[in-house]
Amino acid sequence: MSDPRSPATTDRAAELTDRLTAVRARIAAACDAAGRDPSGVGLLAVTKTIPAADVATLVDLGLDAFAENRAQEAASKVDEVREARPGTSPDWFFVGGLQRNKVRTVLPWVTRIDSVDSSRLARAIDKEVAKAVDAGERSGPLPVLVQFSVDGDPGRGGVAPDGLAELTDLVTELPGLELAGLMAVAPLGWEPDAAFARIAEAHRETVGRHPGATVLSAGMSGDLESAIGHGSTVVRVGTALVGDRRIASE
Ligand SMILES: *Cc1c(COP(=O)(O)O)cnc(C)c1O
Repeated sequence: MSDPRSPATTDRAAELTDRLTAVRARIAAACDAAGRDPSGVGLLAVTKTIPAADVATLVDLGLDAFAENRAQEAASKVDEVREARPGTSPDWFFVGGLQRNKVRTVLPWVTRIDSVDSSRLARAIDKEVAKAVDAGERSGPLPVLVQFSVDGDPGRGGVAPDGLAELTDLVTELPGLELAGLMAVAPLGWEPDAAFARIAEAHRETVGRHPGATVLSAGMSGDLESAIGHGSTVVRVGTALVGDRRIASE
């Protein structure tokens, strides 16, 4: 563990400060170009590649929404950040492929699972939520996003276009889940504008069926401007915000 006041830490804090300023400026410019109010676009910091100490620094800088994509790594990081910054309570989101037997691992700390892409996973979450409610560990349903796959590529997560309506209908029927909206990634090899136009259309259809599903999580470091232009309400930013520094143990 390095001394938190060491020059290296200070440099890192300065770097994160600059990166955050730059990301916020990009979001503001994209909102300006799209004629949108910046308060309508949330920033979700994807912290999967960085240590808890960096997340603590981001908390100091005012960020309060973090996303992880691996259940085990996330659980310990959430604990470490809680210990490093007692009295703060950032929201944590899960954005990765989730095995059904890992649902139990994420439930104690997760604010919303953003990567629900199958009826099997939806039912597994519903079951674990019911258990947690019975045990007095939580009081209500878990908000989720359904992950939508524009091209239906089974290798990259997300429900294919022809299965979207059925899955969102199921999620709204399960008592342990609350459909908050959709998450999507622009597929490799697609023009971002073409991908986000399709994603936005799928989101409009979803809101037509389920008016509460207002969240559209779309846009990352490389394409957030395009996503905001097409109506994204949450951008998920990793690399642009934190660099590509890896956790030492990986
Ligand atoms: C890693 C990740 C991001 C962030 O990607 P960057 O290009 O590093 O900004 C966003 N969404 C998901 C689902 C991710 O896994």
